[in-house]
Amino acid sequence: MYRLLLLSQKLPSQLSQIRKIYSKVQKIRKEHKYKNQVKKLKKHHSTLSRRDFLKLLGLGGAGLGAAAVSAPVVHDLDELMDLPEAAGKRPWFVREVDKPTCDVDWDIMQRFDYSEVMWAGGLRKALGVEEFERILEIGRENRLLWMQESRPGYTLKEVALHGANHYAPYSFLGPQSSPTPEALGIPRYEGTPEENTQLVRAFLRLHGASQVGFVELDTNTTEKFIYTHDYISWHTRPFGQGPRLDILDVDEPSEGDGYRVIPKKARWVIVYALRMSDDLMKLAPTKLGNRAQYYMYELKSLIQGQLQNFLRTLGYMGLGEVSRYNALGIAPAFAVMCGMGELSRMGHVITPEFGLRQRVFKLITDMPLAPGKPIDFGAMNFCRTCKKCADNCPPQAITKDTEPSWDTRGKPYHSPGVKAWYWPQENCQAYWRQIQECSICYAVCPLSKGGSKAIYHDLQRWATANTPVFNRFFRNIDDFLDFGRRSKPEEIEGWWDLDLPPWGYVD
Ligand code: SF4
Ligand code: SF4
Repeated sequence: MYRLLLLSQKLPSQLSQIRKIYSKVQKIRKEHKYKNQVKKLKKHHSTLSRRDFLKLLGLGGAGLGAAAVSAPVVHDLDELMDLPEAAGKRPWFVREVDKPTCDVDWDIMQRFDYSEVMWAGGLRKALGVEEFERILEIGRENRLLWMQESRPGYTLKEVALHGANHYAPYSFLGPQSSPTPEALGIPRYEGTPEENTQLVRAFLRLHGASQVGFVELDTNTTEKFIYTHDYISWHTRPFGQGPRLDILDVDEPSEGDGYRVIPKKARWVIVYALRMSDDLMKLAPTKLGNRAQYYMYELKSLIQGQLQNFLRTLGYMGLGEVSRYNALGIAPAFAVMCGMGELSRMGHVITPEFGLRQRVFKLITDMPLAPGKPIDFGAMNFCRTCKKCADNCPPQAITKDTEPSWDTRGKPYHSPGVKAWYWPQENCQAYWRQIQECSICYAVCPLSKGGSKAIYHDLQRWATANTPVFNRFFRNIDDFLDFGRRSKPEEIEGWWDLDLPPWGYVD
């Protein structure tokens, strides 16, 4: 806060703007305080008048007359708590919209082969086999050298932390170790799509998901996010294609040599995110920083099997990812369509709650679910002017073009049909493989920092969600306040001495 005031003195013309935004933010926060009060009141199960109800939702006074026309009738607080307005699940600066903030041309978009993506065969294809192997060798040499010379973030203890991987078994059909309804002698669980949605969300939140969303598959639109061919490891030699993902009019899913079958009746995708550690992420590009991603992959391997078993006992199928990282379909696309976040300049989903600080996974089911809607909290607009990830990318991989484009620049690892910021991913990957890790773009992103309680971030988020006018200003102030990446040796080594909260979540 002190630094914010200092900056304000240096920029007197912007001080009054900050004051105006701050008072608006305070007003909105006050309104939201009402909702928290409602939650406390629920214990007492009292009866509310419509007027009281609207007041609690911040619609009292002048707004009451207009709002009352369409306001729902609420008899008691239990009914009130069932209303989406009272749930308060998303931050107050988030708006639901009919279409995603990135334009999509569904006619151009087609299902995509996973083997083409950069993390699979993309880098080898872009560089050629010889150069690809040379890059990998440089990475191996660097790893040994940096351990030997005890480079901060790459010493033996950091290599040990990074390599402490341990995964639960994961598969397309799941562990199938829980009883089915038939085995229990009862009919399967039946609920409305909304009830099912709440059930799955509650299950996933309990097991560690930071966000949960739902997409309904439609042949002409969202089904195109499912890969034509499933995951194949980049280690595979000779490299080929993963198993075909066939969507067929059959009753049961199956898999065999070179194929997996998704029944057409499995029309819903459960999208869930696992939040990464805030402090670890700031230490990019070290072995420490990269652990922020890996332990979420490990957690996912456990959660996926648990969710598949949960759905099985309820009487439904759960078709999972056969990789710890990514499989089945395009994660950012599903995350955008279910309303988890917006597409960012660097191609990942950016969420209102955590910015880029999460990994996104998905699972297909035949349990009917209520799909979410895309959201707009100004992120794509912010990306237009921010460009901080591009400015800080060592190999200059991320484009600095202001506007997104339909042009995939002839790169086979890009899936066409989205107006996005396409950039040469081989530059990123070649750099990543040589220094073994990166994620600097995650660490520096101004939308990836701070808790929802921080005054500065309240200001930023309100402004970002409502107008692009201040976007340049907030990019500059983020540089000045320096919330992001920590690269000094003492900052990297100091991580081991932090009194960390569970999972490293600081807010
Ligand atoms: S991970 Fe590193 S190299 Fe790749 S885009 Fe981000 S900053 Fe650039
Ligand atoms: S650093 Fe800026 S441009 Fe890049 S993803 Fe974050 S908000 Fe967008």
